[in-house]
Amino acid sequence: MTAAASAWDAPLPEDLSRGWIHGETRAFSDRTLVSVDPSTGETLGVFDDGGAPAVEAAVASARAAFRGGWGRMKGEDRAARLLAWAQRIAEESEQLARLETLEVGRPITDAKTLIAQAPLLIGYYAGLIPGLEDRSDGAVRRPRGVVGAITPWNFPTANVILRSAPILAAGNTLVLKPSELSPRSAVLLARLATEAGLPAGVFNVIPGTGRSTGAALVAHPDVDMVAFTGSTETGKAIIRASVEQALKPLTMECGGKSPQLVLPDMIGEDQIWSGVFAAAFWNTGQWCAARTRLLLPRGGAAAAVEGLRQAAAGWTIGDPRDPATTLGPVASRRQYETVQAFREIAREAGEVIALPCAFGDLNPAGFYVRPELVLEPPQDGALVQQEVFGPLLTIQEYADLDEAIRLADGSTYGLGATIWSADREAAETVAAGLDVGSVSVVAAPGARPGLALGAPFEPRKQSGFGIEGGPLGLAAFTAPQAIAYVD
Ligand code: NAD
Repeated sequence: MTAAASAWDAPLPEDLSRGWIHGETRAFSDRTLVSVDPSTGETLGVFDDGGAPAVEAAVASARAAFRGGWGRMKGEDRAARLLAWAQRIAEESEQLARLETLEVGRPITDAKTLIAQAPLLIGYYAGLIPGLEDRSDGAVRRPRGVVGAITPWNFPTANVILRSAPILAAGNTLVLKPSELSPRSAVLLARLATEAGLPAGVFNVIPGTGRSTGAALVAHPDVDMVAFTGSTETGKAIIRASVEQALKPLTMECGGKSPQLVLPDMIGEDQIWSGVFAAAFWNTGQWCAARTRLLLPRGGAAAAVEGLRQAAAGWTIGDPRDPATTLGPVASRRQYETVQAFREIAREAGEVIALPCAFGDLNPAGFYVRPELVLEPPQDGALVQQEVFGPLLTIQEYADLDEAIRLADGSTYGLGATIWSADREAAETVAAGLDVGSVSVVAAPGARPGLALGAPFEPRKQSGFGIEGGPLGLAAFTAPQAIAYVD
């Protein structure tokens, strides 16, 4: 056995399969759930299904830690502890990347790149803490209290950091329920927070299903706010459940069906197709803001198909443990079946083109799916309207910019969009016509779309609500308390 193989074969640490409550590992029930390795279809291990007793204990712990002074701690002390947490994450980045590859099949090279960004994000929010002291508008920013956070599986570390960093920086304490596909990285992140000096109870994690554990967390009367990232359908269930016993502020970061529009000035640029491919298919299409609807000027489809075929040859579908793999499997059998169902619909709705990616070594029992294009599916059909969360890109042509905007905006989602154009005026016109939270305009044909870390945005329509990012994203986890001094 090679050294590399033995590192992958090491058993998953058992303490990461239990809850992390009040600064220690805690188990609550005999009920367990099974994790499956998506690259083989085989069992990885079991973990606790925490349920209501775990929620009870975690919320009590978070309340005690809140009363104990995390929110009142001097801003610089809170920032110092968060930076120490960022440092611990950097030190454990290999382990976090390994967990991500094992639990959800993310290619190891991608996992390492993403996890390297986690400490930067925490540092960013720690740096915003002094701004919370600003009282120039007559109000004091108070933390909201105990926040319940529920996260999906598609970026096990990044989703947890994106939610927890602003929540904790704002002085709240946290109970987080990660996806049942990726519990272990969340437990490890909370353990590292305790090791870095965040007081016990500030950051608790309870593994479990949405039904058993997530629902109990949302409904708990002592949870002051709920921050949700996940599908629109679950988001709606959470909104309904959250009003049963209380009026809780919510943030909802939900699904998407984001377009990428190539404007006429870019259609002849051969270099754009590798960026178009990446925007649609990176992470095997499993990211909320994946640009899965391609809109082209009339007559542009042939160039796009040829360009995307060539771009595909530079991507390798294979075992996510292999550093050369750029497209891993989808994360679960359920996700695999969902994608297959959409592929069936695609075959009835339009012409389907499978893209010629390279193949590395892979286990055929893994949940691998090859990227496909669907030409001219109907605008009001499932392929254009519903989130697939897999490697399927629709292609539609438009007659003029008005039609481009109408098609791009003609979805119930409003998360993001990419506009390929060096014509700033046309790009601004299109951006203004789109009811979406974030837009990237790519003017350099060889570039990949990016997002500005400091720019706040808010999802629109059925993609959710609540500001994400920047000082406003931090402020979302505080409440302004107006103080009038009457002398
Ligand atoms: P999901 O909605 O199935 O699950 C998300 C989380 O909600 C999980 O932890 C799950 O256990 C929990 N949950 C399920 N039912 C619940 C209930 N009744 N009460 C409380 N919690 C419950 O989503 P998923 O399949 O894990 O993730 C994929 C979805 O997440 C996609 O729709 C994607 O677009 C979305 N997403 C959005 C963003 C964003 O920032 N907008 C980021 C990443 C993923």
